[in-house]
Amino acid sequence: MKKYTSLTEIQAKLAQKELDLPGLLSYYFGQIEKNQHLNAFNEVFFDSARAQADAIQQKLNAGTAGRLAGMVIGIKDNICYKDHQVSASSRMLEGFISPYSATVVERLLKEDAIIIGRLNCDEFAMGGSNETSYFGPVKNAADANRVAGGSSGGSAVAVQADLCLSALGTDTGGSVRQPAAFCGIIGLKPTYGRISRYGVIAYASSFDQVGTLTSSVTDAATLLSVLAGADHADSTVSTLPVPDYARELKPTKKKKIAVLTETIENEALDPEIRAAILAAIARLEKQGHEISYHSFDLLDYLVPAYYVLTTAEASSNLSRFDGVHYGYRNSQAESLNQLYKDSRAEGFGEEVKRRILLGTFVLSAGYYDAYYQKAQQVRRLIREKVVSLLASCDFLLSPVTPTPAFKMGENMQDPLVMYMADIYTVLASLAGIPAISLPLGNNKEGLPLSVQLMAKHFNEQELLNLSESFLIS
Ligand code: GLN
Repeated sequence: MKKYTSLTEIQAKLAQKELDLPGLLSYYFGQIEKNQHLNAFNEVFFDSARAQADAIQQKLNAGTAGRLAGMVIGIKDNICYKDHQVSASSRMLEGFISPYSATVVERLLKEDAIIIGRLNCDEFAMGGSNETSYFGPVKNAADANRVAGGSSGGSAVAVQADLCLSALGTDTGGSVRQPAAFCGIIGLKPTYGRISRYGVIAYASSFDQVGTLTSSVTDAATLLSVLAGADHADSTVSTLPVPDYARELKPTKKKKIAVLTETIENEALDPEIRAAILAAIARLEKQGHEISYHSFDLLDYLVPAYYVLTTAEASSNLSRFDGVHYGYRNSQAESLNQLYKDSRAEGFGEEVKRRILLGTFVLSAGYYDAYYQKAQQVRRLIREKVVSLLASCDFLLSPVTPTPAFKMGENMQDPLVMYMADIYTVLASLAGIPAISLPLGNNKEGLPLSVQLMAKHFNEQELLNLSESFLIS
């Protein structure tokens, strides 16, 4: 069977009866089997996916199937699916079974998507290489000695290696866009508050957002229409109406695109990425868009502000894992305090502990003003600057990553090196704007390159329109 790159293609085959859902699902099961070394899946949901394939095929025969019939999708292992395990790739939650489904899962199921399994990720979504997973790193299918990116590394590799058609990830500071960039696929992080976070294991709640990893812009658009929109279970979700993004997809002409100068001139930027981005800019200009260059002098503050704020939020969010309520419990402890300490010491990995400590420190009485409050102020400045830039143009353009996928282990010794690699993705996260990572072909070594486009709050339609016209031209 050949690789399908969009739901439209699959639905056409299903309609012509050249394909059926049990057959399609077996194809993906075969692909997963052949690519086990990539370590993309924490678990394949063989039984529930097969049952879904049979049931949805019957609906297709009867003409009653939902909008996503034919979509075989994987979910990052920090998204709850009732009666299925969810681990956040942590020992802390190993074996834990979700008592309920996330809103995004409910919405996928309602439209007849088949959920094929849960995908490996960095532990509690903390990381940028998928090397902090308790279940081992995910390997990049372009070069198995290199990282998949993270934290949604399993989600990106599953789509890259054709183990499923699309995947859900979560993006707090780049976790959808960066692995998409390392794997040569499309990663969309919508506006903060576009999609419900209910049932998504929290990392930093004022940043976390569900995003999609796909091989086509139309699939990103179709999924967004299904996933987005108000939810009584998450009050941070916007009540703005949700367009039919895929149907409204149309070519964009003559838009104003602002290139953030420092991001391109930055010495740390890989020369092949710079060349690919300059070529992309030239292509956009040729397509009739107006390119302008703008200084973004707050670049140096992005990573520090992001890490102060997200670790602070994480230290609070992860306090619920105490060995008592649920999750891993040390069995030898003789007092309650010892139980808390030992369960957390044994249940969490190094990176998660580092962040809990850092977050607790920046929130502590003596340091709150100097770090946490300062970072909040910096976040506000960044957001204001982004909003004012986007008042005079339609899109911002920057790299997604400073380098292509790096070698396994290369950045694990020094957390600061790993954190600095998030420099281009955290901007959209701090400002809460939608952003997309688009593939730009491969470098000389065959590693994927990419570019990032960002738009005004809730302007996903424009962002998808530009992405589609850019990629198909
Ligand atoms: N690499 C970033 C971090 O470790 C982003 C992670 C994410 O978006 N979940 O925080």
